[in-house]
Amino acid sequence: MNPLRLVIFGRQGAGKGTQCERLCHRYGAVHVATGEMLRAAERLDSALGKQAATHLKRGELLPDEVMIGLVQERVSEIDCQSKGFILDGFPRTLIQAESLADFIPTSEFDGAIDLEVSKELVIERLQMRHRDDDTSAAIARRLELYELQTAPLIEWFRDRNLLSVVDGVGELDEVTHRLFTTIDHRRTIR
Ligand code: AMP
Repeated sequence: MNPLRLVIFGRQGAGKGTQCERLCHRYGAVHVATGEMLRAAERLDSALGKQAATHLKRGELLPDEVMIGLVQERVSEIDCQSKGFILDGFPRTLIQAESLADFIPTSEFDGAIDLEVSKELVIERLQMRHRDDDTSAAIARRLELYELQTAPLIEWFRDRNLLSVVDGVGELDEVTHRLFTTIDHRRTIR
């Protein structure tokens, strides 16, 4: 079977991180999580990390061209090419989605999954975890940006018949199972 190529959406706190780990394990794919890449760059204090620091702290998006370059480079690497990948955190704007389609045709994607958890529930979950950049102002700003900029992307993928909505509320294993079923189905129709 072709290497998995998937996009996953979901509000911060929807459980994408944990579920992506399980998906990558099952499909042998690479987890390409842009937020994690930026936090790693910040820890290394690289040029990218320095640029990312203030954006991360405020919950603001980095410029599209920076993110597009970063992801394009990452998915061209040999591991992503041979094993496939799950994009988590990218695309986040229409410009990012259009450029993704420029470097990988949408016909080569298995789909985009919207892991749906309500805003009220993710706020509750986020207040319980403790990451340095999880101040309540940053959480509020990220959720606001999600509604403004990322939600329209869901429509962009829906228009291209690539979208599957998966209910992200429930036991961890139950949600994982829903994801497996959805992805397996999409892969049979690709
Ligand atoms: P995440 O871990 O996906 O929630 O991302 C954390 C932060 O990284 C975001 O709040 C943004 O500041 C930045 N970021 C991650 N991915 C992107 C992207 N595709 N475009 C712009 N900024 C991003």
